[in-house]
Amino acid sequence: MTTAPALPRTGKLAERAARLLAALGATPAGSGDLPARTPLTGGELLRVPAATAVEVTCAIDQAHSAFRSWRTVPAPQRAAVVRRLGQLLSEHLDELAELVTLEVGKIGAEARGEVQEMIDVCEFAVGLSRQLYGRTMASERPGHRLMETWHPLGVVGVISAFNFPVAVWSWNTAIALVCGDTVVWKPSQTTPLTALACHALLRRAATEVGADPNIHQLVQGDAGVGAQLVDDERVALVSATGSVRMGQAVAPRVAARFGRCLLELGGNNGAVVTPSADLELATRAIVFAAAGTAGQRCTTLRRIIVHVDVVGPLLDRLCAAYRQLPVGNPLDDGALVGPLIDAKAYESMRSAIERAIDDGGELLCGGERVDAGGPDAYYVRPAVVRMPAQSAIVREETFAPILYVLTYHDLDAAIELHNGVPQGLSAAIFTSDQREAERFLAPDGSDCGITNVNIGTSGAEIGGAFGGEKQTGGGRESGSDAWKAYMRRATNTVNYSTELPLAQGIRFG
Ligand code: NAD
Repeated sequence: MTTAPALPRTGKLAERAARLLAALGATPAGSGDLPARTPLTGGELLRVPAATAVEVTCAIDQAHSAFRSWRTVPAPQRAAVVRRLGQLLSEHLDELAELVTLEVGKIGAEARGEVQEMIDVCEFAVGLSRQLYGRTMASERPGHRLMETWHPLGVVGVISAFNFPVAVWSWNTAIALVCGDTVVWKPSQTTPLTALACHALLRRAATEVGADPNIHQLVQGDAGVGAQLVDDERVALVSATGSVRMGQAVAPRVAARFGRCLLELGGNNGAVVTPSADLELATRAIVFAAAGTAGQRCTTLRRIIVHVDVVGPLLDRLCAAYRQLPVGNPLDDGALVGPLIDAKAYESMRSAIERAIDDGGELLCGGERVDAGGPDAYYVRPAVVRMPAQSAIVREETFAPILYVLTYHDLDAAIELHNGVPQGLSAAIFTSDQREAERFLAPDGSDCGITNVNIGTSGAEIGGAFGGEKQTGGGRESGSDAWKAYMRRATNTVNYSTELPLAQGIRFG
């Protein structure tokens, strides 16, 4: 283990968390069965009560009853809540970001970026509230009008993962609220404090603009609390972000009651580096995408597929950059890599590296633990492992900073390797050759929901629809027309003539 400067002890961090919560308008009960830990030291910050089954039912009751009137408020008026939420987030950006750092271990820049993303999606949703457009189609019948209308859907159950504890909630909630839905949020049991803060800010926004605060409900707890949302018929849409395993448990249960599901699951993102790539730019992009957030993004770059002619120079640059990455206390400005979330994440990183080596892989750099926050904190040096083939461990998502390196001779084979994993979230190609770039973007190119050229796999903008294919679940959130998942479509035919012509020219009687 290498050593980094000492961190403040957990007690001091707990005082800081309590101060931040108070500044954000949230007051944790201080006791309860849900511990809020900090990965900075591995210690416990505060405790939060978990919702009982009766409380979850009550939250769904309230959201369901609030929906009955919220759906009739005109969308531009509904947007007032989201506009105010965006303002409150701007005012409290630093405080919420610091709470994200304490609870999840993100470095300051990334935690602030996450809150900025929330502000951006609020702005997007406010604009969207005047653009929930339906189409008008040409009717085949004289004196008829054919059109579609988008209506609010109902209660949206939002289940979120630990690694984007606040942004994923805002992507769902800002859009759902302008669409006329109400929300019941089940955050990750690992991040109850940031959830309390967001809930308090939203309730304050609603109260200040004169909206019903019951449009948003928070239910804290583990998978069992999530399962109650999954099984309740009044939850019209279950928007669930997390592991493939979670999606496999959730999707059939929602389908069994003909509910709607929006799944944002794991990724195993790859980048192809071609002979014409700008290696300087590619190196910088790869380091951010693979080592940023300590490898704990769904869009983290986990595989690079490099042309044999450039693999040597690329790896020289990459390993040099990796060796200089400052790993340590994310509250320090200098740190670029904070801790893993917990011991389990460290164990899965260690075992993945061992399996890769058993498969003939060579650990080129990193992988070791860094002593920065004491025995219960898990700081690691991001690892680069060169692999002879895309073995089973490479096809899995290990939620830690391991970058596997594979090589190729021709682009078709590189694309085949790239797509040869069960997940389909984010992809990239580094090239200066337009033919190669277009080939990667083409129907027989990358099979991912997000495919980039000369940009890494992580760090999407909110304006696009976010999500992936295959085991990533097929859902789309945030920008573009992702709002349609939060509404129901009605097709309307209006006859303004005095005749009754039937479609397809049918004569009846
Ligand atoms: P996780 O699957 O352990 O938990 C995610 C959420 O699902 C938590 O709130 C958890 O309590 C809940 N949950 C788990 N099982 C459930 C069940 N059977 N019924 C109802 N709820 C259940 O994931 P995690 O460790 O918090 O997050 C990491 C994973 O999330 C990674 O796989 C990552 O790729 C993925 N992720 C995906 C996206 C995306 O947009 N595609 C974004 C962030 C994270």
